[in-house]
Amino acid sequence: MPPPDWPNAIAHVDADCFYASCELLRRPDLKNIPVCVMSSQDACIVAKTYDAREAGITTGMTVWDARKLMPGATFLPADFRYYGQISDKLFSVLRRFSPAVEEYSIDEGFMDMNGLRALHRKPYRQIADNIREAVHQQVGVTVSVGVSATRTLAKMASEYNKPNGTTIVAGRRILEFLQRVSVRDIPGIGANREALLDKFGIRSGADFAAAGEHLIGRLLGRAGTDLWHELNGTPVYRVEPEAGLPKSVARTASMGQVTGDKATIHAHLIHHAMRLSGALMEKRITAKHLTVFLALKSFAKQAITSELPYPTADYFLLAKQAGKALDDMFDPGQRYRACGLIATGIAIRQAGNFDLFQQAEQRQEEKHLKLLETLHNVNQKFGSNTMTVCASLKLAGKGNHARFNYPMLECV
Ligand SMILES: [Mg+2]
Repeated sequence: MPPPDWPNAIAHVDADCFYASCELLRRPDLKNIPVCVMSSQDACIVAKTYDAREAGITTGMTVWDARKLMPGATFLPADFRYYGQISDKLFSVLRRFSPAVEEYSIDEGFMDMNGLRALHRKPYRQIADNIREAVHQQVGVTVSVGVSATRTLAKMASEYNKPNGTTIVAGRRILEFLQRVSVRDIPGIGANREALLDKFGIRSGADFAAAGEHLIGRLLGRAGTDLWHELNGTPVYRVEPEAGLPKSVARTASMGQVTGDKATIHAHLIHHAMRLSGALMEKRITAKHLTVFLALKSFAKQAITSELPYPTADYFLLAKQAGKALDDMFDPGQRYRACGLIATGIAIRQAGNFDLFQQAEQRQEEKHLKLLETLHNVNQKFGSNTMTVCASLKLAGKGNHARFNYPMLECV
């Protein structure tokens, strides 16, 4: 008896040659010209358009070899910060379709689709087509979408009809789908495992699913039997919207001296707030709670944890909270050796963090993040202390970075 069609529904959304498509977005003049994106040291190819791939250029190939193969192609340096911004937009479109989205990588995500047919009053194929169209219209890049009962099948389905395609594999179609793919198309099966399976006559996806669980287990171990269940339509791996998120992000350090000067400690905390905000923004995450700690000369520690008004990566809020905690904890009779900030309650940054009554705050945070983004960009290009906040300048007197420090932001 064939398995039921939709005991479970997972979509895999995968952008088509993502980095190269991002470059074409801001360089429309390169349309119809093969584009290759180079790694950070311009040593090898990390992405390429389909026409470059047809010429034989592969990911990981040296730029030298790629140029020989295709002298007419345009070679661009990778700009991961920019690709991250496009990725943010992509995932915010996906979250409008399902609240349960797992960011699997910068350009791929899994979506829990259970219940969405009733919500959108449409079959999965139409929902998947709508997702593709929405991403294309609102982000400008194309994606391919696969929908099936398990993560592994959904991922194989999105790969099946690239670029800009939808592939739906319902329960009763799984066998038919697996007959058309080779074991090499199963995620996690590389050349070595392919060669091993070949010795046992297992060549197509259907051979793999039809082989005994025991045999697959003997050849490939636990990872193999997990895949075997997934290929037979029984989910082993779930969609995990919070997967990969750190529990906390901390920026702490010794002050390099033992001091009873509150302004010095404040300057260190401001410096940590700046670095913490940068780390959160870079990972595209927010914090709900902030712990501010001070270590006394005796190594005893004091800490205050408080809730931020909303989940945020905004330096200004972090710095304000750190200042308040310092006011509450600082004892003029004590001397201190270290301090730091620990952000917890980590979540993926999304537009829906604000309720109706916080629209003014939302606008303010957007302004702050834009400003901070510019600042981080400058620091990444010209060195980490090129621009900073004036309250942390007290630290800049030491060392030869001082003359590059221009106070650009009002301190809180
Ligand atoms: Mg991709």
